[in-house]
Amino acid sequence: MIPPIADNFVAGETAPEAIERALELDGRGVGTILNLLGEHYERPGPAAEDRDAYVRVIEDLDDAGVEACVSIKPSQLGLDVDESTFRSNLDAVAETAAERDAFVWIDMEDHETTDATLDAFEDLAREHEWCVGVCLQANLKRTRKDLARLIDVPGKFRLVKGAYDEPEDIAYTRKSRVDEEYRELLRYAFANRNRGVGVGSHDPAMIEHASALAAEHGTDFEIQMLMGVRESAQFDLAADHTVYQYVPYGDRWLSYFYRRAAERRENALFAMRAALGV
Ligand code: FAD
Repeated sequence: MIPPIADNFVAGETAPEAIERALELDGRGVGTILNLLGEHYERPGPAAEDRDAYVRVIEDLDDAGVEACVSIKPSQLGLDVDESTFRSNLDAVAETAAERDAFVWIDMEDHETTDATLDAFEDLAREHEWCVGVCLQANLKRTRKDLARLIDVPGKFRLVKGAYDEPEDIAYTRKSRVDEEYRELLRYAFANRNRGVGVGSHDPAMIEHASALAAEHGTDFEIQMLMGVRESAQFDLAADHTVYQYVPYGDRWLSYFYRRAAERRENALFAMRAALGV
């Protein structure tokens, strides 16, 4: 069982608990992107296990009558083993998603994985149109070019600021510069496609910027935020926008929870208050 405090950020250790969360969010007008926690497998076995778990959870979500949508880290499906292991595992998940009218997001990890991740996305999106999406990171200097290359691919983009510490020669490291780049990428995406733009940010200024661009260009977009972060804003935004909550689950929750708590003072204070019962 996930202990109190951590359970604000993680749905549970099992798939049924994650599906219950998805049903609950669905009832409140918010979509769910399920993420089974796990990454950086060095052997094919654990990657195959998680591939099978994703296939099952897509089927179970669909059987439960809730929109099936998952998000997967490439290294969870074997990218650290080799690219072909990653590709064949991802293909299997995407195939099930296509059969079930479900959706597969591919998370983006550090810059050494960007090419393999984007190539896999492009091939799959052309094979299963509007069934897969990929995350693009505003902190990487290459992302403008990547977005331009992929702008006509029939899949979605989730634009994020970037969670990985990257070297200065390939990445913007100043927060204000990353914010500026994020705005610019949004501008380009909204001006050049009419659907499939995901805004993966908790930042009210970026969400406002995206809403204004959507009104200007008539582009369909979705806001994506993490479970446990600005949740009341998520429900408020869902009155006028498409909102998805990224919901992690699984028994590897501890390091994820530490990351969330360490990431922001608000989360740490929230966790402390909950622990003290104040
Ligand atoms: P920040 O720039 O950190 O903060 C801006 C403002 O947002 C703050 O001033 C505050 O007003 C508000 N805010 C932010 N966080 C909080 C909080 N915890 N509590 C209250 N207010 C807050 N990164 C990757 O590299 N690869 C991925 O695949 C990836 N997937 C993601 C999927 C989703 C759905 C989300 C939401 C993020 C993902 N990220 C991913 C992380 C992302 O790159 C950022 O590191 C993270 O979202 C922080 O940036 P931000 O835009 O949310 O806000």
